[in-house]
Amino acid sequence: MSSAIETIRNGILEIKIVTKLSNMKIVNTLPPNYEILSLYLNPPDHAVYCYGDTIYNPSGKKLTPDIEHHESIHSKQQGDDVDGWYTKYLQDKEFRLKQEISAYGEQYNFIKEHIQNSKLLKWGLEKMAEALSSEAYGNLLSYGEAESKIRNYTKFNT
Ligand SMILES: [Zn+2]
Repeated sequence: MSSAIETIRNGILEIKIVTKLSNMKIVNTLPPNYEILSLYLNPPDHAVYCYGDTIYNPSGKKLTPDIEHHESIHSKQQGDDVDGWYTKYLQDKEFRLKQEISAYGEQYNFIKEHIQNSKLLKWGLEKMAEALSSEAYGNLLSYGEAESKIRNYTKFNT
C-alpha cells in the first residue's frame, strides 16, 4: 500500500499518491469519436473519455488517480480494437453496463487500497454509484443496484 493523503476538496476525492499510476496520455480535447458517441449518449461537460492509450479530458478538470485508474481499465478492455469496442459499448447497453461495472469496481478497489478513512470510502462509493446510475450512461440501472454491483464486484474479485 502506498502512502496517501486523503481529503475531499470542492467535492473531489483527492488521493495523493507518490508512485506513478498509469501510462495513459492525457489531453484536454474531445475524443476522436465524439461525434458518434454523442449520437448515443449525452455526457456531461466534465466527462472524461478513454480512447486507446489516451484520456481525453475536454473540461481540463483535475484528474484524480482513481479516475485515471478507471480509464486505464477501459484502455485494457479496448485492447487493439478501440473502434470495435466503442461500437459495442454504444449499441449494446448490457455490454456497456458490464464494462462500467468492471471499471467502477476496480476504481472502488483502488480507493479502498489507498485510503483508510471509511467515511471517505463510503463517499467515494456514493459518487460512483450516482455516476453509474445517471443519465450520462443511459439510465442503465438504479442507484441502489449500482452501489451494490460496485461493492460486490470488489468482494468477488479480490
Ligand atoms: Zn467508465
